[in-house]
Amino acid sequence: MSPHTGQSNADTAWPSAGLEKLFKCQICSSSSRRLRYADLTDRLFCCAPGRWQMYTCNSCQTAYLDPRPSLASIGLAYDAYFTHNDGLTLPRSGGLLGWIKAALDGYRKHRWQMPLNRANVTGGRLIGLLRPIRETVIAHMRHLPARLPRSGACLLDVGCGNGLYMDLARQAGWQVHGVDFDVHAVASAQARGLDVRLGGLEQVQDLLGSFDRLTCSHVLEHVHSPREWLLQMHAMLRPGGSLWLQTPNINALGHRRFGVHWLGLDPPRHLSLLTPKTLFKLLDECGFTVKELPLPALMALSVYQDSDAMAKGAPQIGARLRWRSFFRPAWLSDAWLQSRTLTQAEFITVEATKI
Ligand SMILES: [Zn+2]
Repeated sequence: MSPHTGQSNADTAWPSAGLEKLFKCQICSSSSRRLRYADLTDRLFCCAPGRWQMYTCNSCQTAYLDPRPSLASIGLAYDAYFTHNDGLTLPRSGGLLGWIKAALDGYRKHRWQMPLNRANVTGGRLIGLLRPIRETVIAHMRHLPARLPRSGACLLDVGCGNGLYMDLARQAGWQVHGVDFDVHAVASAQARGLDVRLGGLEQVQDLLGSFDRLTCSHVLEHVHSPREWLLQMHAMLRPGGSLWLQTPNINALGHRRFGVHWLGLDPPRHLSLLTPKTLFKLLDECGFTVKELPLPALMALSVYQDSDAMAKGAPQIGARLRWRSFFRPAWLSDAWLQSRTLTQAEFITVEATKI
């Protein structure tokens, strides 16, 4: 059901003038392919009209929609979309939750020297000893180096939303900038004093070649030309600068488990979904060296929770993690496997360094 109208839009056709036919893979140009899904609909926000076919490239295994919304019409898919929820941020509160939040801040203060007034330093030390929690905090900070690479180091968040992550990086001492296509999110970030520009990388051409770090969280699957975006991001970096990138993994265990209900499909907003091998090759061709990064079990379980809700016809994106729902042996086993076998993780997470 649509959050706005209570109705699904799946039986309304996408305007035919707004459809773009590909006939071939946009990553490797091969036209050899097989149909993977014939009738995908927007099961997440239920706002996008249309039914969609997804193909798998026989050459590079990329999954892609064909036809897909054109660049001019894609806005229709974002009618009820809210991109920038931060599922790992705990509310301000007292009691146990308040203590956990203060302890997490304590760890952040210790590792990234963030000026967090309410931090619990002792709790932070304890978190430093608990590997699964420590790795979740580090992943949530997008594996930001513990020390600035140089004084005045600059970070660009590509697809920054309302600037939540920029705020964290700023507290860690980085000069931060951001770009995003969402007019409401950009206004919200600007109101908090952040340098966020409406649009894509063309908006920061004055800063070309000046960034020490780029972050690009769950953007690549939305763009019409992934290779073009990677080349543009490469140009934004200084030599030796790094791109942190995360995107859904079409080979994820969760995809096998939930099939058409898997959160990562998200048609028609997700236009292409890559395998780890293909993404690494693409990054290499764009001038990066690639380091894979682990995905904490908690993040995999969060995808499972959302996919399960969709399978039950009750998408709850933005809902808080429901801890009790995680205690299913099959889910816990998958999450454990994913944290050790990155080829099957829900997300591909990499740090790609500009050669
Ligand atoms: Zn291909």
